[in-house]
Amino acid sequence: MSVEKKVKCPVCDESFQLDSDLEIGNTVCCSGCCVDLRITKLNPPKLEEVMDSNIDNYDDEGDGDQEEDEF
Ligand SMILES: [Zn+2]
Repeated sequence: MSVEKKVKCPVCDESFQLDSDLEIGNTVCCSGCCVDLRITKLNPPKLEEVMDSNIDNYDDEGDGDQEEDEF
């Protein structure tokens, strides 16, 4: 089952779809302005512009178990 999450870019107001397996703290690129956005909330999804210029390049390879903290 995949839940599609649609979010709005805080920078350019472009709406785009989030991958359903993203979690809080992950960063995505806006499809409109290519800015890096960090996911700060999931329900409802909320994005925040990443101000930190020292951005790690996360490789989402999808293998390995990630622990999920659910509140
Ligand atoms: Zn944008």
